[in-house]
Amino acid sequence: MAVQDAKILILGGGFGGLFSALDLAGAGDVTLVSDEDHFLFKPMLYEYLSGEVEAWHIAPDYRELLDERVRFVRGKVTKIDLKSRLVTLSGAAEPFVYDALVLALGAVTNYAGVAGAEALSLPFRTLADANNLRRLMTEALDRVQPDAAPQDTRDALTFAVVGGGASGVELSTKMADLLRDAVKRRALRGEARVLVIEMADRLVPGMGHQIREFVDAALLHSRVETFTDTRVVRVAEQGDVVPTLQGTAQLAFQQAGLLSHNVKAFLTGGHLRSKHFEELGEALSLGTEHGAVLVGGKVLGGAVARQARFALYTQRLPTWHHRLRVGASWFFEGTKARPLQPLGF
Ligand SMILES: Cc1cc2nc3c(=O)[nH]c(=O)nc-3n(C[C@H](O)[C@H](O)[C@H](O)COP(=O)(O)OP(=O)(O)OC[C@H]3O[C@@H](n4cnc5c(N)ncnc54)[C@H](O)[C@@H]3O)c2cc1C
Repeated sequence: MAVQDAKILILGGGFGGLFSALDLAGAGDVTLVSDEDHFLFKPMLYEYLSGEVEAWHIAPDYRELLDERVRFVRGKVTKIDLKSRLVTLSGAAEPFVYDALVLALGAVTNYAGVAGAEALSLPFRTLADANNLRRLMTEALDRVQPDAAPQDTRDALTFAVVGGGASGVELSTKMADLLRDAVKRRALRGEARVLVIEMADRLVPGMGHQIREFVDAALLHSRVETFTDTRVVRVAEQGDVVPTLQGTAQLAFQQAGLLSHNVKAFLTGGHLRSKHFEELGEALSLGTEHGAVLVGGKVLGGAVARQARFALYTQRLPTWHHRLRVGASWFFEGTKARPLQPLGF
């Protein structure tokens, strides 16, 4: 069999799967399978929540990113038969045959066995999750009467974010800034309240002290209440709780490069390589106006870091033409947050 006829089947169109497909384009008969029609640049889901970026910036359709060298199939993988080299998709008449299989189906939300968490809290990993959270925040604001007492405003607008890693900090500061802005615009009395709950003795435990200084300042500035050494054991009704997830796209991104090299080597009888994960730095979104970035051992904070984060992430988006379109849009049209307007406004 000629190498260009080898069937390379990639399951999952996230950082691992999509970047592998882009690298492997033309190296064989490449098919990418995903259950969504779009890629999602998850590190900027917070900016999508706040309206600083739009869906097309961070969630481009696969068909815009892939050319004729990669076939895209939308479908849910339900069965993988490694022995017969067959993959079944729900609703598809025939299973897919492969010579090389790439498994990049990502992770699922882990509720860590906390009672009530799956039923009553909101996950935050897809565009739909972000839309849902934005709608819930707006509905909660809409329920506050203009003459409500400060305590009633606070009770109606209390949100808890579970997990005080980078994701929890980014999400809570973003929510707090959005809510504070909306309370001010609607001239409500009192304040919204956003809590972040962490079972370790400090927030962002894996990060160095320099970047933590920016994190602490941002939490203070956004008036996020932090609870460390606190473990959530149960989620009850009448609460808006958002669990966050840790993990890194950096790893999946680097694995995609190694993987495409190894798939090509596997098909041509070449040498398979291994590689150590390289820490590329940290880039946090802190509220709607600040950020913190750690690159090459140097830490930057404030509004400049927010801009630096946009610049860094522009380079990490898939394909040069998408990077160019998005970069131009951010540069010329700006990246200001979109206020939480009353529903139906
Ligand atoms: C809100 C948020 C913020 C994050 N921020 C950062 C950050 O700042 N920096 C960082 O390094 N990492 C960050 N991460 C983590 C990062 O996004 C993940 O590590 C990365 O996406 C993993 O890539 P992956 O390809 O393994 O999986 P994913 O990107 O999750 O891709 C999996 C793909 O498989 C598809 N799929 C799943 N099941 C099926 C099925 N049965 N059939 C067909 N298709 C299926 C999914 O739709 C998806 O397209 C963040 C994650 C989240 C949720």
